[in-house]
Amino acid sequence: MKIILPGKTIGVLGGGQLGRMLAQAATRLGYRVHVYEPQAGSPAGAVAHQEVNAPYEDLAALTAFARECDVVTYEFENVPAAPLKAIEGLTVLRPHWSVLETTQNRSREKRWLRDNGFPHARFAEVAVDGDLAAGIRGVGLPCVVKTADFGYDGKGQLKVFAEADVTAALEKFAGQPVVIEQFVDFACEVSAVVARSESAAVRVFPIAENIHTNHILDFSIVPARVASAVLAQAEKLARLVAEKIGLVGVLGVEFFVTKAGDVLINELAPRTHNSGHYTLDACATSQFEQQVRAICGLPLGAVTLRSPVVMVNILGDAWKWSGGQVVGEPAWDALLAQPAARLHLYGKAEPRPGRKMGHFTVTAPSAELAYELAQKCKARL
Ligand code: AMP
Repeated sequence: MKIILPGKTIGVLGGGQLGRMLAQAATRLGYRVHVYEPQAGSPAGAVAHQEVNAPYEDLAALTAFARECDVVTYEFENVPAAPLKAIEGLTVLRPHWSVLETTQNRSREKRWLRDNGFPHARFAEVAVDGDLAAGIRGVGLPCVVKTADFGYDGKGQLKVFAEADVTAALEKFAGQPVVIEQFVDFACEVSAVVARSESAAVRVFPIAENIHTNHILDFSIVPARVASAVLAQAEKLARLVAEKIGLVGVLGVEFFVTKAGDVLINELAPRTHNSGHYTLDACATSQFEQQVRAICGLPLGAVTLRSPVVMVNILGDAWKWSGGQVVGEPAWDALLAQPAARLHLYGKAEPRPGRKMGHFTVTAPSAELAYELAQKCKARL
């Protein structure tokens, strides 16, 4: 088993907030962190020892980067898998590129879930030159059409509820391969962050209940307010996914919980997950430290929940806007005055509507109380 001890260098592909919080956890444990990110001035680059700015397809730059790192991981799902295959022999790549390749494309991901016997919403695939209307009729209304590539936070998807929406879907997705999913009239959405080490140890963090607004995660509530059988099933599925996909690292699993109490897998992400940010303030080990431990071959940390907690995303919308311009900051003082709240900002210079700028957590004696207080804090921002 390959163990990478503190003092060695961790390479991170992608410079967003997930990479930033990974770099913070890694440097606390005494690692060096190098970040590879196409755009200069990234959130992760700002807290790393070194930032390389080059396209992912620049094999010379990527190869030089890989040679300087003792282990390389990715924080961004849309890093192309092909260049990763090229650096596989130069360094330790965790998780393996095949995990990224399977999960970054909705068609491959859905097929993998189906072929491995995991519960998921019924779906059909339509190729670039395929018959989308026939595909929609095959799945039946209501359904959701999603681009096969580069989808996240509800980007590149359209709900089709009535015949009239079919025309809109034909226009929107012309010339793109898509996946058509049955619309799930879910009772709620939950998620799990699972870590697996090379020695096959597996730990699943407490399940989060997720509330989305405009397809973007708004609140994560932990413990999730669902039946214990649902919690057990979500945990079991997350563990099985990690084992079957051969994970070495951390992976987020998003689920739909149906009104009948069935747990369906919606999506997999082979990295830390937005819904796992609560672990920074409420768990014995954070998901970022767990990622470091898993990719470096250290023992996995305890996932014990220290307190009920709610995480709230802070989007660019929280800034004061007038005529399309930012005219004021959120009221940080109100949030910082609340002893139960903890603020995390990602150092992004330019707020934009829908852009994740930071998050905060609120701990309280129960999930309900934490949720109430979190909503109040959000309203005061
Ligand atoms: P995704 O980008 O696939 O994670 O979708 C973003 C959000 O859209 C999900 O978290 C759900 O709230 C909603 N959504 C996606 N797919 C479906 C579906 N098949 N049925 C109902 N809602 C969905």
